[in-house]
Amino acid sequence: MSTSGSREHRVVVVGGGFGGLQAVSKLRRAPVEVTLVDRRNFHLFQPLTYQVATGALSPGEIAYPLRAIFKRDRNVGVLLAEVADFDLDARELHLRPVSPVPAPERLGYDTLIVAGGSHYTYFGHEEWRMHAAEVKSLESALAVRSRLLAAFEAAEAESNAEAREAWLTFVVVGGGATGVEMAGQIAELARDTLRRDFRTIDPRRARILLVEGADRVLTSFPPSLSAKAERSLQRLGVTVLTGRTVIGIDAAGVTIDGRDGGAERIASRAVVWAAGVTASGLAGRLADLTGAERDRAGRVTVEADLTLPGHPEVFAIGDMVRVRDVDGEPVVLPGVAPVAMQQGRYAAGVVRARLRGREHGAFRYRDKGSLATIGRAAAVADIKGVRLSGFLAWAAWLVVHLWYLIGFQNRLLVLIRWSFSFATHGRGARLITGASTNSEQR
Ligand SMILES: Cc1cc2nc3c(=O)[nH]c(=O)nc-3n(C[C@H](O)[C@H](O)[C@H](O)COP(=O)(O)OP(=O)(O)OC[C@H]3O[C@@H](n4cnc5c(N)ncnc54)[C@H](O)[C@@H]3O)c2cc1C
Repeated sequence: MSTSGSREHRVVVVGGGFGGLQAVSKLRRAPVEVTLVDRRNFHLFQPLTYQVATGALSPGEIAYPLRAIFKRDRNVGVLLAEVADFDLDARELHLRPVSPVPAPERLGYDTLIVAGGSHYTYFGHEEWRMHAAEVKSLESALAVRSRLLAAFEAAEAESNAEAREAWLTFVVVGGGATGVEMAGQIAELARDTLRRDFRTIDPRRARILLVEGADRVLTSFPPSLSAKAERSLQRLGVTVLTGRTVIGIDAAGVTIDGRDGGAERIASRAVVWAAGVTASGLAGRLADLTGAERDRAGRVTVEADLTLPGHPEVFAIGDMVRVRDVDGEPVVLPGVAPVAMQQGRYAAGVVRARLRGREHGAFRYRDKGSLATIGRAAAVADIKGVRLSGFLAWAAWLVVHLWYLIGFQNRLLVLIRWSFSFATHGRGARLITGASTNSEQR
C-alpha cells in the first residue's frame, strides 16, 4: 500500500450497512480521506424491519441518514450513488446515479472496502417475488405492512366465506430467525392488536402458517431452543409446518409438497418470504475480476485478511463473502450483523496498521451468541453455550437491539414505542400506504 505523496490516502467504502458503517467509523480519526458510497442515503437496521412490516415501529425509527452519522467527521464524505462495476487495475469504481441525483462516472481509491450485503432469492422462481414480499429493505417492509393490513380490510369487506378465509390466511415461508419473528408478530397483530378493530370478522380466527423445509425452525440454534421456539409459536396460534417445501406461489395462494408425496394447496392472499439469501451482485463481479472462488450463494471467497486474491488493496466483507481460514479452507460465517461489523472494524484496522507500516494478523470471528424473539416476553438466546428462553431471553434481545440501533433519538423512540406497546398491546404504525383509488390516479 502506497502511503507516500502529498495527498491523503483515499479509502472508498461501498455500502453503509453493518459492515461498511463500522469500517468508516474506525477510520474517523485516521489520516485518510474516506468516501462512503451507498445507493441509499440511510443506514437500515435490518433486524427490526419485520417490526415495521407489522406496524410496531415506523420507518424513521430504524433508519438513520448516513450524512448525519458522520456529520462531525471532516475526513468522511458520503456519496449517494450505485456502484455499477470495478476497474481494479485503474483502482476506480464505476458509478451509476441514483435518480435524480447526479453522480461522478468514476471514483478513484487507494484502498477499497466493499460491503454490499445480500438479498433474498426465490430458489430460481423470481415470479414468486411479486406474490411473496420480503422484509429486507424498508420499501419491501412497507409493502408487506400494506399487504398484511389490507388483507384484514379485504376480509372485513368480503361476503364469500371461502374468499374471506383466504384473506385471513397468512403464510410465512422460511423458519429462520426472520420467519419466526415475522410469524410471531403477525399472530400478535391478529390475536391481540386488531382483536376489537373489526365488526364483521374476528381477526383472532386468522390462520398463520410458518413453512420450513428443514425438520425444525431456527436451525442455527440448538435443537432444544428450536423446540421451545416452536412451542411459543404454537401458543401464539401459529401452525408450524416443518419438513415441508414450497413448490408454488401465485396470487391466490401457496402450494407445498404434501406428506403423501402429492401437493397441498393453501389459499392465501398474504404470503411473506423469509427464506434463502444470495450475495450482492458486487461479490460475483469481484470474483470474475480476481478469479476468486464463489459459492452457491454467490459469496466471493476472500483471503484470511479479507482481501481479494492478488489485490491486497481491496477488501470485501459481510454477507457477501466467505473467508479462508489460516489453513486456506473457505469458511462460511453466519449471515448476521456481528460478523459484518467485526469484519468492518478489522478491515479498517488493517488499513490503519498498514499506514503505520505494521503487520496485522488474520481475521477471527468472535461469536457472542444468537438471539431470536417470538413475541411478547418470548424469545430464545444461545449466548456462549448459555441457553435462555422466555422473559430473560426477551430482555436480552431488547437490550442488544436497543444498544446497536444507530442514533440516541432512535433508541429513545423505540424504547418508548416498545414500552407503550407492551402496556397497551397497541401498534401505532398500522398504515396502509402505496394504495390509491382510481380518482386519486386521475
Ligand atoms: C429481515 C432481516 C432480519 C435480520 N435480523 C438479524 C438479526 O436479528 N440479527 C443479526 O445479527 N442479523 C440479522 N440480519 C442479518 C444482517 O442484517 C446482515 O447480516 C447484515 O446487514 C450484513 O451486513 P452487510 O454490511 O454485509 O450488508 P448490509 O447491512 O445489507 O448493507 C449493504 C449496504 O450496501 C448497499 N449497497 C448494496 N449494493 C450496492 C451498490 N451496488 N452500490 C451502492 N450501495 C450498495 C446497500 O444499500 C446497503 O446499505 C437480518 C437480515 C434481514 C434481512
